[in-house]
Amino acid sequence: MGIANVRATMMKSAYFQNPRGYRIQKTLKRAICFEGKGLHCGKPARLTLQPAGPNHGILFERTDLEGCPRIFASSKAFIATDMATTLGYGGNNQIRVATVEHLLSALFAMGITNVAVSIEGEEVPILDGSAGPYVESILEAGIQPQPFSHPVLRVLKPIRVHQDGAVCELLPRNRLRLTTSIDFRHPSIGVQTFALDVTPQSFAQQIGKARTFGFVQDVEKLRSKNLAQGASLDNVLGFSENAVLNPEGMRFTDECVRHKLLDALGDLALCGCWIEGELVSFRGGHSIHLTLLQTLQHMRSHWELVPSEPLRSISVADTYQAAALEM
Ligand SMILES: [Zn+2]
Repeated sequence: MGIANVRATMMKSAYFQNPRGYRIQKTLKRAICFEGKGLHCGKPARLTLQPAGPNHGILFERTDLEGCPRIFASSKAFIATDMATTLGYGGNNQIRVATVEHLLSALFAMGITNVAVSIEGEEVPILDGSAGPYVESILEAGIQPQPFSHPVLRVLKPIRVHQDGAVCELLPRNRLRLTTSIDFRHPSIGVQTFALDVTPQSFAQQIGKARTFGFVQDVEKLRSKNLAQGASLDNVLGFSENAVLNPEGMRFTDECVRHKLLDALGDLALCGCWIEGELVSFRGGHSIHLTLLQTLQHMRSHWELVPSEPLRSISVADTYQAAALEM
């Protein structure tokens, strides 16, 4: 190998391993389908994830509504509720898709940036309450790198928000890391903290299978608000006043905090970029995540986009090299 080639190779690998290196857009190799019912509406829904071209983004299409309206997965369409993340627009947000966070969390962690999501129904099916079925199906279908860069939002200065006793902070880091803490007065939960450097592997092994959880004493109140209509021990880790209700028990001893991290990642995904920074949250939830993303938009000097030009195409060889480094 000549000197010029050696230098070119070194520069290339340094380029992609450098925190300033580009990330790569990715889609699925084939379509995948899911069927189930919504956790909150209790109604059946069918979801299809289809491969999409570069710069498409994650776009939902409500195929059960007239004209098949589309909803872009972005912080602009983010409607946080106490219990779930809903995307919507229009008067009264009548064009909406509910409980998107587990799907978005899995897509984001797996690095999938372009997917056409058809949904027949108003709410993403809850499946087993975790992101595990999405992760398994995505890995089975295969991930297709695309020869375009995906922007990275690099946090330069801390951004902190407070809300009703909850705190969320984004800190500078050379990778994406989440540190989540919860505090529930329950003998099976209490104070728990979990930290994760997000990669497809770490998410699949440590976070993806953690289920939504809930307390039996809240069920009546939720159902009176038309929530949790589809909840059962098949899709929720349920707690009585002092015990776990599911006969199979917990999947992790700290399953609750792992699930909170899963939810937080799904909400962060709505910023539309990969992130180089650490989210530190205490008692976080969808509402404070929305506030954080809105604050981020206004604090422009606290972050930069890399690369700053969004539509850069790159060679196929570099695409595969960069994609391999991201895995
Ligand atoms: Zn959740």
